[in-house]
This record gives sequence, structure tokens and C-alpha cells, in this order.
Amino acid sequence: MGRYTGPSCRQCRREGMKLMLKGTRCYMAKCPIETGRPAPGMHGQRRSRKQSDYGVQLREKQRLRRQYGLQEAQFHLFFERASQRSGVTGEQLLQALEARLDNVVYRLGFAASRKAARQFVLHNHIRVNGGKANVPSMQVAPGAVIEVSEKKKSRELAARNLETNATREVPSWMTLDVKNYRGEYIRVPTRDEIAPIVNEQLIVELYSK
Ligand code: SF4
Repeated sequence: MGRYTGPSCRQCRREGMKLMLKGTRCYMAKCPIETGRPAPGMHGQRRSRKQSDYGVQLREKQRLRRQYGLQEAQFHLFFERASQRSGVTGEQLLQALEARLDNVVYRLGFAASRKAARQFVLHNHIRVNGGKANVPSMQVAPGAVIEVSEKKKSRELAARNLETNATREVPSWMTLDVKNYRGEYIRVPTRDEIAPIVNEQLIVELYSK
């Protein structure tokens, strides 16, 4: 499945908000959103016209999709699965995105961004419940233990990232044991605890058309 390989910051500029795609740079003053760079493209500076309902819903979906680094087809699949579960579809969608292994690795601080976490998982640096886990989209179940492989290279990479990300808070639904390069996904977070600044109801409306 093809992935977006263009500049990450361009996606934030397109959405007009910080999607936190680049790790440490996102916390610095030189982040293009902080410096007020306009949306990309020749009409980027003059996009103030009123958006249609469809346009608003589409933007909301793109924001969430890009935040988690998913392609359209993959994102749609997540939505389909969420809509088949009991409960509020939008909330189920966010919880499923949060339970992705690459997201959990990012949230624990083993990688600087979700994109980097994806690579980290793909390169066999992570183990789940003591077993091999190299599928970034894998759903992590409550109670699962996520740890960095004992390989020297894996530990070195993780140590560097943990140090860089030390100021980032570990979410309340996870625990982190820095010394042992191990974290636990304790429970499913509630909607209020999940950080994405989106109105997921608009995404549900978009896909329900
Ligand atoms: Fe770039 Fe990060 Fe700022 Fe987004 S939040 S524009 S990825 S530096």
C-alpha cells in the first residue's frame, strides 16, 4: 500500500493545525505552524471562503487520518470495523487508532513520531507479550506488555528516543518502565483522554453518506 512520502510539515500547513508528525521539531519555535506559514499551493494564502458541510467533514477526516499516518483505504477499513462494534462509532474509531502498535510505541516514547514508530516496529525492534511483533497496525489488547527487543541496536535507538522524549507525558492508560525498556497498555482510553483535536462525529457523517 502506497504511503505519503512528501514533507510532513506540508500536511500540517494544509490542515492549518499541528499534527505532530516530526517529533522534536514539532515542539520548537521553528515549526511552520508556529511561524504562521500559510497553507501550501499558490492559493494557500487566500483560503478564507466558507466551506460546504462536505468540505468541513472531509477536512476533519483528513486531519485525523494524517495525524495517525494512515492511507485512505486503511483509514476507511478502521472506520468500517469501528462501525460494526457496539458503542459510539466515532469513539470506537479513536480507540482503535490509539490501540495500533505503532501509536502505542510512539506514545510510550520509544520513537519520536508515529512515522518513526512505524519504522521501529517494522524493523523488529519491538516485542509484545514476549513475542515478535512487526506489524504496525496490530491492535494492542489491554494488559499487553510492549518492550524493546534486547538487541543492542534496538536498545540504543530506544534509549536515545526515550531521552529526547523525556518531557512528553506517558498517557494515563499506559505505564512505562524506562529502565527495562518496557511499557504496558493497561486499558482502553476514554474519548476525553484521547488527544486528537477533531470532531469525530463529522467523520461518521461523512462516511454515512
Ligand atoms: Fe512540522 Fe511538526 Fe510543526 Fe507539523 S507540528 S508543521 S510536522 S514541525
